Amino acid sequence: MKLVILGSGSSVPHARRASPAFWLESESGSLLLDVSPDATHRLAQESLDWPNLDAIWVSHFHLDHVGGLAPFLFSTKWAPQTRERHKPLKIYGAKGLGRLFDAINSAHDYELLDQPFEIFITDVEPGGEFDVLPGLSAKTFSTPHTNESLAIRFTDNRGASLVYTSDTGYSAELIPFAKGASVLLMECSFRRNKPVLTHLELADAMRLAHECEPQKLVLTHFYPEWDDFDLVAEAKALWPGEIMEATDGLRLEL
Ligand SMILES: [Zn+2]
Ligand SMILES: [Zn+2]
Repeated sequence: MKLVILGSGSSVPHARRASPAFWLESESGSLLLDVSPDATHRLAQESLDWPNLDAIWVSHFHLDHVGGLAPFLFSTKWAPQTRERHKPLKIYGAKGLGRLFDAINSAHDYELLDQPFEIFITDVEPGGEFDVLPGLSAKTFSTPHTNESLAIRFTDNRGASLVYTSDTGYSAELIPFAKGASVLLMECSFRRNKPVLTHLELADAMRLAHECEPQKLVLTHFYPEWDDFDLVAEAKALWPGEIMEATDGLRLEL
């Protein structure tokens, strides 16, 4: 699998960090993990094959994670690059995604399902398992962030796995779900003294890393308070494994 970081930031405007979106590619297709308001143009900036995107995953309904869904579908509806496309686009997301999509789509005559190709929108239950692409299975986990928020674990047919926590508070129950992943893509919103329980600060994230023992930890979803600090050095002081700071444009093989 190949992972491309499109947005390592949060909802807060930032010069170097777009809002959350990640490109995941397997042998059988491509998948967008969260579709932030910045995602559409970030896909083009990274020269990714967005006209042939196979699937989208929406972890929860905060606008830094789903606010780009309607704009992306508005672009595929009108872009010359998708006029000859016929394969369907599958959109999976937390429970309520279909209702949210219908509300946006019916607010104006967008007709976002009227595309050259079919679109299927599927709500996924917490704990739900499904094949997101041929040879790429997915399992979800309810996180303490919003009512609907889900972490997701992808496993390919060679046994490589990616866990994407998306936004989450600390949860000991996340440990067995995320255990031993090839890559654990985990939020680390705050450095310390987090203002809310529904996100992680560094100590929370490294406690989870210590318990989950991923082959590689990639930290993301940074608020601007991280700008003046060496995240990896501070993280390594708390857990000795392989740690990377997500930066926009970073590419990883797993
Ligand atoms: Zn967020
Ligand atoms: Zn959120």
